[in-house]
Amino acid sequence: MPSWEQPLKQPAFRTGRLNHMRLESQSPESAATRFAQRVERANPTATSAASLNTLMINIGLRCDMACAHCHQSSSPVRPENMSRETMLDSMRLADILRPALLDITGGEPTLWEHLPEMVGIARGADRPMRIRTNLVALARPQSAGLPSLLARQGVSLLASLPGVTAADVAEQRGAAFAPSLAVLRLLATLGYANGDPSLRLDLAYNPPLGELPRPTTEIAEEFRLALEPLGVRFNDLLVIANVPAGRFAHRLKLRGEYDAHISRLDDAFNPDILGELSCRHGIEIAWDGGFADCDFNLGAGLRVVDGPRDLFAALGIADSGGDIHAALATRRIAFGPHCFACTVGAGSG
Ligand code: SF4
Repeated sequence: MPSWEQPLKQPAFRTGRLNHMRLESQSPESAATRFAQRVERANPTATSAASLNTLMINIGLRCDMACAHCHQSSSPVRPENMSRETMLDSMRLADILRPALLDITGGEPTLWEHLPEMVGIARGADRPMRIRTNLVALARPQSAGLPSLLARQGVSLLASLPGVTAADVAEQRGAAFAPSLAVLRLLATLGYANGDPSLRLDLAYNPPLGELPRPTTEIAEEFRLALEPLGVRFNDLLVIANVPAGRFAHRLKLRGEYDAHISRLDDAFNPDILGELSCRHGIEIAWDGGFADCDFNLGAGLRVVDGPRDLFAALGIADSGGDIHAALATRRIAFGPHCFACTVGAGSG
């Protein structure tokens, strides 16, 4: 059995009863309907997009790790990979939409062979760009030169770090703390998180599996206290609830904990953050050119249900003089049971 498919050595679920024999009982449709009804009751306009500030691009699912919380089930063996042609079409759509941010995700984007060319095109057109990374991939000898290229091009980073101790990080992704620290120190020497707005370095934290997020200010303070003495600087900390899609949903279902987890998320529903959901202010292009309302939906196998369904349809509308921006920025959102993770506490959608 490959290492990334092996069960975690320590109990990952700190709450709830373990039952490895029972599979999910609640139908995904009923939980999705319940979420949509809660949104509709709290804010009827929140079932549709409100703007198109962010164009997210998922370049494929290959990653050098296979974290337990991954909503994309990414791993070293995933074959999904955006072609150069689709990358060029994505850049063409970015030229038309002019989003405030190009947000690049995966998989691990820094492993993707077309990343340097895409960065050159996007930054050459002065598009603000952020790349999400697990940090560890940038520590590989094959990545030497990439951090300095990204710094020269003014590309911001959103780096995943699920803890400030080796043990906390190991719970979700193995022995990744030391190489993550080495990369964070390198980024500090390259000028990241030192006042230049184009060289933002934000950290993304997700709580231990089975736990709901604590307040962001509390965790950010813990991170600063622990990391600054180690020579690490960062701008903001984003707290992202573990989203029950992909590998994380699979683990919950194997343990018979999926329904209980969705119910806990449902109990913590916060209607005040519906205006901030990322699906309402952006759209994602998947590696195959199809559209999803957000990366979590993509991980759950849920593509858009309103407006043009893919890059090629969108470019066709634009080429024939249609208003593609309006069509995408007002589309109805497709909700799934995993959406409850976006409305917990301060939100993480
Ligand atoms: S998972 Fe995606 S579609 Fe669902 S609420 Fe969150 S951002 Fe919106």
